[in-house]
Amino acid sequence: MRALPATVLALLGLTATACGGVANSDAAGGQGLAVSAQPQQPAQATTIEARKPLDGKVIVIDPGHNGGNFRDPRAVNRKVNVLTKWKACDTTGTETADRYTEAAFTWDVSNRLVKILKQRGASVKLTRADNDSVGPCITQRAAIGNKAKADAALSVHADGSSPGNKGFHVIMPEKINGPVDPVVGDSKKLGLAVRQAFKTGTGLPYSTYIGKDALDFRNDLGGLNLSTVPKIFVECGNMKNAGEAAKFRDPEFRQRIALALANGLQQYLKA
Ligand SMILES: [Zn+2]
Repeated sequence: MRALPATVLALLGLTATACGGVANSDAAGGQGLAVSAQPQQPAQATTIEARKPLDGKVIVIDPGHNGGNFRDPRAVNRKVNVLTKWKACDTTGTETADRYTEAAFTWDVSNRLVKILKQRGASVKLTRADNDSVGPCITQRAAIGNKAKADAALSVHADGSSPGNKGFHVIMPEKINGPVDPVVGDSKKLGLAVRQAFKTGTGLPYSTYIGKDALDFRNDLGGLNLSTVPKIFVECGNMKNAGEAAKFRDPEFRQRIALALANGLQQYLKA
């Protein structure tokens, strides 16, 4: 075994010399000796590096609406029971003045978000498989999170308000004497974490027209009322506002949104 480091040193020396430095040769030799003197260290380091921040976490991401909803109003308008009322199965969602749809926006942001979360070790499910289909109904969107026993679920939306209104807000569930009641508290914690990360990561302001400091609580959304796992909606901004519409059309800005949402989810799940 003693002959091996010498051989390695000789090889390293030759390589370093070829690059033009005797000092490099010494440094490389030093590293080689250190490694062979502590054979267990590299294995431990590998184990630590392989652990990811969201290992073992299950997250469901719900891209609001669907690109196909526009062409099947009958299916979309079918009434479903969301416990506090009857509502349409799904809606078309809004769009920018130049017709960039909310469905396309939420689909893109959600896929970017899923990629980041998977890189961080999470197991992630989307509530729809493409942006050309119809639905699923809001009841089904909640059921997917419940079935997955998600540690957190997040529904991605953007609003369609008056052009002068701007900013993002987070929607959290209220107690309704229903299945969501036990997770109302955790949903609020998730909402607070995501609000902070979204503000920091995107620079978008708190909504100027809904909620207080970007926080809104509702009891009329099927996606929240029927959830048995901590869940929130994020309205990323107002698609009818020219400034925010321009940002939403920019892929780099959508990546910033996705990263901010991932950071908020991670903050909540690590707490
Ligand atoms: Zn929406």
